Amino acid sequence: MNNEQKIRDAVLEPCSPYRPAEGCARVTVIIPFYNEEDQVLETLNATRSVLDATGEQCDILAIDDGSSDSTWEVLRTYGLHHDAFSALRFSRNFGKEAAICAGLAHVKGDAAVVMDGDLQHPPKHIPLMIRFWREGYDVVEGVKSSRGRESIFSRAAAHCFYRMFHKMSGIELKNASDFKLLDRKVIDAWNACPEKETFFRALSAWLGFSRKTFDFDVEDRTKGNSKWGFKNLIRLSVNAVTGFSSRPLVLITWLGMFFLVFFFVLGVQTLIRYFSGNAASGFTTVILLQLLIGSLVLISLGLIGLYLASLFHEEKKRPRYIVSDMVRKSHVKSDEKLRKML
Ligand code: UDP
Ligand code: MG
Repeated sequence: MNNEQKIRDAVLEPCSPYRPAEGCARVTVIIPFYNEEDQVLETLNATRSVLDATGEQCDILAIDDGSSDSTWEVLRTYGLHHDAFSALRFSRNFGKEAAICAGLAHVKGDAAVVMDGDLQHPPKHIPLMIRFWREGYDVVEGVKSSRGRESIFSRAAAHCFYRMFHKMSGIELKNASDFKLLDRKVIDAWNACPEKETFFRALSAWLGFSRKTFDFDVEDRTKGNSKWGFKNLIRLSVNAVTGFSSRPLVLITWLGMFFLVFFFVLGVQTLIRYFSGNAASGFTTVILLQLLIGSLVLISLGLIGLYLASLFHEEKKRPRYIVSDMVRKSHVKSDEKLRKML
């Protein structure tokens, strides 16, 4: 059995026709996937069965973030056989933030749920999210009551980052997640934000609107690995800070002033020693200070460079992502017909 046949069989197996309830608002579930060929079908089926049970008119919008494995093949085949499903494929890997942006730019309904494609955001919470939304909340957000399996290093790094981010931007993100429902108003406000480098968790908090949180346990990933390498995390952290706070630049200025005063005191002391014939002593202090000041100057220059780079990237006005392929509902025929065609 070739690979394409295997995918087709796997997709057709749990094929229950989706019948949305008449006259209800439409909620789109946005799911980004990057190299998730082993996981994608399980996620789509689990999400679909939860949506079926809500009785709401819901659909799924999957984004393939430039996967190099057969994720897109699975999504495409799935789209051929299921209603209330569409998928976009990026021309290359643009990152999860860009995938969320694409999802929010393409939803047409009254609300959108954003969730990870590895089932770490359990779809079983979607009915509760929809209920809170129906009660009138514009943003319903999942708060991690436990963070799932994670190395001590990741936990400590996340803790430090969120503390620093809170200090710098005033936005509290401790235990926040990307598992969120956004009302149409919020989606429109998001889409009106022009920046290219986004940080979904923080920007959606910055937008405001009435909010409701619910606790959830982050499930363990059962297939594949986390796609967040150390480099991606650093990039996201830098974007997050430069995108939400100019406080580091203010801090540098204060640090400069502090050292100016320090130098003045030290300069007076050095001159007194020089004129009293004691100039050779204190050499250690000079070396230590040179190292300290040198590294601080370099860090400060680097930091200013990061802000400039961020301005440079925004100014180029390139699109956040490029869509190379699509599976639209209009392409989808009834399951029975297609089964015969295949
Ligand atoms: N993801 C993506 N593009 C990327 C990295 C990740 O679309 O460049 C997707 C990934 O397939 C998953 C979700 O984003 O559905 C969360 O990624 P992951 O599980 O790797 O992140 P973690 O849970 O470790 O934070
Ligand atoms: Mg994950």
